[in-house]
Amino acid sequence: MNALILGAGGFIGNHLAARLKSEGYYVCGIDLKYPEFNTSTCDYFIIGDLRDYEFCKAHVTSKYNEVYQLAADMGGAGYIFTGENDYNVMHNSALINLNVSKLAIENKIDKIFYSSSACVYAKHNQLDANNPKCSEDSAYPADPDSEYGWEKLFGERLYLSAYRNYNLQVRIARFHNVYGPNGIFNNGKEKAPAALCRKVAEANNGDTIEIWGSGNQSRSFLYIDDCLDAIRKLMSSNFVAPVNIGSEERITINDFARLIIKISGKTISLKNIEGPVGVNGRSSHNDLIKKETNWEPQFSLEQGIAKTYHWISEQLTDTVKFNQ
Ligand code: NAD
Repeated sequence: MNALILGAGGFIGNHLAARLKSEGYYVCGIDLKYPEFNTSTCDYFIIGDLRDYEFCKAHVTSKYNEVYQLAADMGGAGYIFTGENDYNVMHNSALINLNVSKLAIENKIDKIFYSSSACVYAKHNQLDANNPKCSEDSAYPADPDSEYGWEKLFGERLYLSAYRNYNLQVRIARFHNVYGPNGIFNNGKEKAPAALCRKVAEANNGDTIEIWGSGNQSRSFLYIDDCLDAIRKLMSSNFVAPVNIGSEERITINDFARLIIKISGKTISLKNIEGPVGVNGRSSHNDLIKKETNWEPQFSLEQGIAKTYHWISEQLTDTVKFNQ
């Protein structure tokens, strides 16, 4: 089997390449950049811009049985919720999806995976931090809290219309906060798990770290290995409509920071400050994916974040050693 991973230099794409290789696939990856922290396991890696139709045409070809479309202009709250990147986020990702969906149809790709996001869910269903509603059917009437979420809804609809009109076999996941080792943690695009791990790893005993917002906003987080299992199960299924891939283990951001502090063994206090935070509460709702694929997460948040914290901590220690 031949697979093409778009966004193979990114966090999930790079992990997915290793997974597909271990399953015996020939894997080609495309991205604007190579993975940050380790060498790609792709058989072949092409640096290029998927916004460029001619580039896409040359590389998204009938040679591939499966395409995994993970490329997007995205980041954590500091990138998505400030409003400063709205146009780029929408324009860049929409262009990629327009190009890729058209070529997938023309080249009769057997199956294509599209990574949507929990950011599609309506703001008004996520006002109560203790009771967010993120079942798949609650995405409409649509009211996402970011342009990133609106673009993901557009992407979903684009691939679904390709299915309806051209029978393109699409599988669509709405990821909820995927985290783990080998993810960015210090370039302004990092998400809460990596940012919190970095802050704790950099702090000394007795220090205070800053947390954006009241800290009472709640989220769930999915460990990367669980995410890869879910992607593979969804690709093997016949289920076409968008489905959540996330964890139902919801935690407030302050409690999440306290969990990481406990793992670090340090004594650190929290200070809540103004900052971009997104909705008050969000958590995956897994009834549908469980019914369709029999998947459920295997890693607890404590297990997954301990692995992530130790990895980030090691990276920071290596950087200090390198600079000495
Ligand atoms: P990532 O930012 O690490 O990876 C995306 C990759 O796409 C990057 O390496 C980037 O360079 C590449 N890319 C962007 N524009 C490109 C272009 N024009 N041409 C070629 N490559 C381009 O993100 P990730 O965490 O690996 O997420 C993968 C996908 O899953 C994204 O579509 C993202 O929106 C979605 N998603 C992720 C999460 C999460 O928690 N990680 C949550 C919801 C949705």
